[in-house]
Amino acid sequence: MNREIVWKGNNHTNSSSRGTHVPFVIVNHISAGTMASMDSWFTSPGNKTSSAHFGVAKDGRIHQYVDIRRMAWANGIGAEDIAKSKTPVIQDNPGINPNLYSVSIEHEGTDGDLTEAQFQASVWLHRYIQQQVQEIWGRVFELDRYHVIGHFQVNPRGKPSCPGSKFPWNRLYKELLEVEKKEDDTLKLETWQWKMLGDTLDGLYRKGVIGDYSWAEKAYTGKLTASELAWLNTVIFARQAGVEV
Ligand SMILES: [Zn+2]
Repeated sequence: MNREIVWKGNNHTNSSSRGTHVPFVIVNHISAGTMASMDSWFTSPGNKTSSAHFGVAKDGRIHQYVDIRRMAWANGIGAEDIAKSKTPVIQDNPGINPNLYSVSIEHEGTDGDLTEAQFQASVWLHRYIQQQVQEIWGRVFELDRYHVIGHFQVNPRGKPSCPGSKFPWNRLYKELLEVEKKEDDTLKLETWQWKMLGDTLDGLYRKGVIGDYSWAEKAYTGKLTASELAWLNTVIFARQAGVEV
């Protein structure tokens, strides 16, 4: 299905630099209002407090307010709350404002009971964010319970009901994982590992062990899949054992 993201942010939309941080967490929210009121609040000169990267309407429309290269003001908590958090990804990043390493999705509604169109659009958007982060920064993160969380997990004191008691967490994780299994066999590596794999395949190409430079290129651009690497390993191993293939 073709989806369109409609840009709605303006020069009143709140955002800040991410500094050197790369986003690897998605935080889900409920807007507690309509899509129209979300558009209006996130572009209002009177709003000096909050923003989000995306909003998903009940009919499946997706609006964007903040470029994911920048940080949205969606999950603000003080140092004290960060220190007290029980959420693994926040515990693992002590003293760091979660806005710096997250992308936020608002959902139109009040209790998290998403419509089917809204749920499907949100699943698509999670995948889209994952791909954008890989394209922009070369970082891959899984769409699992560690990396996809709710606002209540960031700010249990101030926002215990965001994205709401009816938010379909189990179905969301199941769907995100299934989509991943179906479509994505790409290796999950850190940037330095991709570089090292690229250098390795480049070296093997120069030594004549593999005849195609595009394997190195695939590694340098973070696109090599597990199936391709298994195939390459077998061919390289065979050639080094003297088998002519
Ligand atoms: Zn929220």
